[in-house]
Amino acid sequence: MRFGNKVVIITGGAKGIGAGCAEVFCREGGRVVILDKDAEAGTRAVERWNQTGPGSALFLPCDVARPHELQAAIDRAAQAWNRVDCLINNAGVHPPATPIEDTTLEALEELLRINFVSTFAATKFALPHLRQTRGTIINISSMTAVLGQEHSSAYASTKAAQVGLTKALALELGRQGIRVNAILPSNIDTPLMRAWAATLPDPESALQRVAALQVFGRMGTPEEIGRIALFLATDDSSFLTGVALEADGGASLDY
Ligand code: NAD
Repeated sequence: MRFGNKVVIITGGAKGIGAGCAEVFCREGGRVVILDKDAEAGTRAVERWNQTGPGSALFLPCDVARPHELQAAIDRAAQAWNRVDCLINNAGVHPPATPIEDTTLEALEELLRINFVSTFAATKFALPHLRQTRGTIINISSMTAVLGQEHSSAYASTKAAQVGLTKALALELGRQGIRVNAILPSNIDTPLMRAWAATLPDPESALQRVAALQVFGRMGTPEEIGRIALFLATDDSSFLTGVALEADGGASLDY
């Protein structure tokens, strides 16, 4: 039980990478609180995890782009089991490929609110609780933060902002015993990935092309990112902070 009786809050935990994290932490005895705006998927997911255990799970409906909802949900999460040991800022969206000329400033601001301001805000709201446990913060960024991505200037910027925040906060919070790290996945097989492929003329061949980018010839799984998050949330990584961990299956090699 590598996370026995400890509490993790995961934003966007109903599906995809967040759900992969929740499953891994629950399997390791953790108490998992997922904050998601998809109430149906969230309710179903926690039912499943509570049946399989050995940890337990709680779903709280929340749109992370609304700071008041986020603060209320984090306070409720902290009350549920009287502690918070880890915050995983995972909720995020990827808009369809759009050149900068066609990206409105309103769309950029909206994306920043969902992908980045939520990361900053959730951290701020969870901090009083994390200070008590000398907990950890994990930000789910993206390889696009360091490699860029064509026609995704807004998305890549929000993901790069998470990396800057990770490093600045690692410095600010390190002396208080709080570690802050980021995971930068390349291509992970999630509903978001499949929704993106569905916007293209030939979704199946698009998914095959994406799989071929990793040296293993496949995408990562949400569970694989969950296992990395578990490592960053436990003392196994006690000397790591401010790290932007490139979880890319070798996709960035051999440029
Ligand atoms: P996903 O769409 O499969 O799952 C995201 C979850 O977040 C969903 O349950 C969704 O309901 C929830 N969510 C979205 N917006 C929300 C909001 N405003 N409030 C609350 N919940 C919200 O996505 P995913 O692929 O699992 O991506 C998760 C994170 O990983 C994102 O931050 C994404 O940028 C990042 N990422 C994904 C990939 C990939 O290949 N899938 C690669 C790099 C980074």
